[in-house]
Amino acid sequence: MTKISNAIGGKLVMSSSTRTSPVFNPATGEEIATLPLSTNAEIDAAVAAAKAALPGWANTTPMKRARVLFKFKQLLDEHADELAREISREHGKVHDDALGEVARGIDVVDFACGIPQLLKGEFSRNVGPNIDTYSDRQPLGVVAGITPFNFPAMVPLWMYPIAIACGNTFILKPSERDPSAPMLAWKLFQEAGLPDGVFNIVHGDKEAVDHILDHPDIKAVSFVGSTPIAEYVYQRGTKAGKRVQALGGAKNHMIILPDADMDQAADALMGAGYGSAGERCMAISVAVPVGDKTADALVAKLKPRVEALKIGPATDKDAQMGPIVSKMQRDKIVGYIDSGVEQGAELVVDGRGFSLQGYENGFFVGGTLFDHVKPDMKIYREEIFGPVLAVVRTHSYQEAVDLIHGHEYANGTAIFTRDGDAAREFADKIEVGMVGINVPIPVPVAYHSFGGWKRSLFGDHSIYGPEGVHFYTRLKTVTTRWPAGIKEGAEFTFPSMK
Ligand code: NAD
Repeated sequence: MTKISNAIGGKLVMSSSTRTSPVFNPATGEEIATLPLSTNAEIDAAVAAAKAALPGWANTTPMKRARVLFKFKQLLDEHADELAREISREHGKVHDDALGEVARGIDVVDFACGIPQLLKGEFSRNVGPNIDTYSDRQPLGVVAGITPFNFPAMVPLWMYPIAIACGNTFILKPSERDPSAPMLAWKLFQEAGLPDGVFNIVHGDKEAVDHILDHPDIKAVSFVGSTPIAEYVYQRGTKAGKRVQALGGAKNHMIILPDADMDQAADALMGAGYGSAGERCMAISVAVPVGDKTADALVAKLKPRVEALKIGPATDKDAQMGPIVSKMQRDKIVGYIDSGVEQGAELVVDGRGFSLQGYENGFFVGGTLFDHVKPDMKIYREEIFGPVLAVVRTHSYQEAVDLIHGHEYANGTAIFTRDGDAAREFADKIEVGMVGINVPIPVPVAYHSFGGWKRSLFGDHSIYGPEGVHFYTRLKTVTTRWPAGIKEGAEFTFPSMK
């Protein structure tokens, strides 16, 4: 059985920890690797390596840092297929979906290649007589990232290329469930010429996270995962004096107005609700048709589509959706479906009991569709993170908007309509961080930034893009005057008043 290493100071290092966590192939249910849960001493060693590498890397010119990133991008492109296979093997998502994840991660590296331009700062000449001021963004030091299972390559790539481009050194603590894709990316970054210790990976669970959060030499933490842990990470990390951005869970609603093209809306919901088995923080998990006629038409279009979903292992080229990442998560999803039935929602398509010949031990759940879901039901209030779409019927646009505003999460949302006025009003007034107009999954491109509102993000910065550069740097503003300016003697007024 493969034993997964840490990556510390430019080397693969086997952990001496006696605590381990199994890694599964969710399509077969087989245990395929053992992940050590690193000791605090191993995390200290990674931090020490990152700290030792910091002065050299922070003083490397941004242009030279960018060159390493260019090479890294090229290697990621060359190994995209291999990375996608690593993702699929441990996560379960289908190959094309995994390739898409890699591509979106590479976009961030592409953005980070522009770091000389992004760090240029501002300059004002003659803010006072012969006095100039410039503002400059400097790295924070050693920074860390803690990432979820659902995008094992992409979410870490939201973080470390930008942090490292800005001149920081980085410690990544990936998800325990699918650690191999980030390990392969680490290897490629080293191959690209990254100095040893600039990028380190330590595996672990809560114990490792706590040690990272309390570590005095780590200056900032980026976290992506579920809301309860995001809130905890934010509170503990900021209490320890760190800068923290903690992105949490979601319950994304899509409003369908009566004038929308129903086929288009139903197709959009299929991809957004069931793609990656619903294990996306930007998945649409609630469809909100306005008016019973709209709802009836929508459910009639969805039902056959959900029943026809092609579910299979990532090796099946025709599969549209793979298994769930773990048995525990699969059982949790089935429990949610049970609770929806118990609480009186109408189960239109039931994915419980789905089984695939030859993959009977895989962690599969079939596509599931509920109609007549009410806002007080558990399947509406909580994030299921599985292939379960809930239809909540509303009778006006305002009722649909109020529904969204009543939810604790506010990551993404979408509206499907042909009415430009309604769409504009929605984009303007809706209290959600990422909004799609006839676009079901409005994930911002790499040169914008990603982040939800309310309990979907704790902290002041969204992730990647320009906000990422701000998160991983601090502003310094320098005011300069050369000796000729003070030859007149002491001054007691502000020089800029002259
Ligand atoms: P998770 O919260 O269980 O785990 C995320 C990370 O936190 C992992 O590295 C894990 O080891 C660590 N962790 C788990 N329990 C911990 C604890 N008690 N104390 C400290 N650290 C702990 O999330 P997950 O199941 O891996 O991922 C799915 C969740 O992530 C969903 O809620 C999804 O919406 C969210 N997510 C959000 C975004 C976003 O951008 N907002 C993106 C992807 C995923």
